[in-house]
Amino acid sequence: MTENDMLLQVKNLHVHYVTDEADVAAVNGISFDVKEGDTIGLVGETGAGKTTTAMAIMQLIPDPPGVIREGEILFKGKNLLENSERENQKIRGNGISMIFQDPMTALNPTMTIGEQLMEVIRKHDRVSRAEAKRRAVEMLEIVGVKSDRFDDYPHQFSGGMKQRVVITMSLLCHPDLLIADEPTTALDVTIQAQVLEIIADLQKKYKMSIILITHDFGVVAEICNRVAVIYAGEIVEMGSIEEVYLNPRHPYTQGLFDSTPKLDSEVERLIPIEGLMPNMANPPQGCYFHPRCKYCQAVCRQQAPQLQGDGHVYKCYFPLGEEVRR
Ligand code: SF4
Repeated sequence: MTENDMLLQVKNLHVHYVTDEADVAAVNGISFDVKEGDTIGLVGETGAGKTTTAMAIMQLIPDPPGVIREGEILFKGKNLLENSERENQKIRGNGISMIFQDPMTALNPTMTIGEQLMEVIRKHDRVSRAEAKRRAVEMLEIVGVKSDRFDDYPHQFSGGMKQRVVITMSLLCHPDLLIADEPTTALDVTIQAQVLEIIADLQKKYKMSIILITHDFGVVAEICNRVAVIYAGEIVEMGSIEEVYLNPRHPYTQGLFDSTPKLDSEVERLIPIEGLMPNMANPPQGCYFHPRCKYCQAVCRQQAPQLQGDGHVYKCYFPLGEEVRR
């Protein structure tokens, strides 16, 4: 596969939030690729920089206070950072679409869902209202919302059904890349499974690529083929699901596994990762994870490690070995 075959390439992305009081480095040199049909999970704690990365790809970083300081975001070979707002608006929807965590933020409470869906279609395609309605109803039924709900308002839907409507909205223009930001976090566990199943089915049907943002390794294992673990705005480990799940090399990845409940094991207590994510207005010297890392040595406090490995990459001087395999 050549560079030209890549759907999305994020290269050395740096995003800061700058106010009079602070300059917060939210994303620090993140690089990853998404091929056609890929489903990559971005995993990490709240505040790791996952959503900021997604918003940068969507070209929706609020400016101010957000500033993309460095990097490239190539979509089908074209750098989105060099596009006009008009060009990027066209890509949002037709090229890249996003499902947000809270379905209510994506829906207008004063309009019926039918009107909202038709508005999205007619914004991107010059079609009649009748054709827009036909397409909207067809897509609603694909995600399991009956056509007789077309004239209902968002408040008349349950959380799970609202998220189905949001998924419908994100798919109306058949995007090549879908970014799903914690799409199941606000939902009950049983509904979560249904929504994940819908996303997985739609990916197969439409051959989309997906970036799934989550703090939950279980959700990633359900539908992703690759995973990138993000800490303090950096990718600290990345590889195929098998590589990272069977042989985690970074202590933070291992910490996330140890703090995640598992159905197939009888662990009595989960082990939380001690401490908090660093204040990125004043990040620690050396490895950003060192204040929380039980394997930390002198070099970790002085100099930042670089990504190492081939395919399965990790950013650590003392990667975990065979003895911690799960
Ligand atoms: Fe821990 Fe050092 Fe590896 Fe950082 S580089 S994760 S402090 S062992």
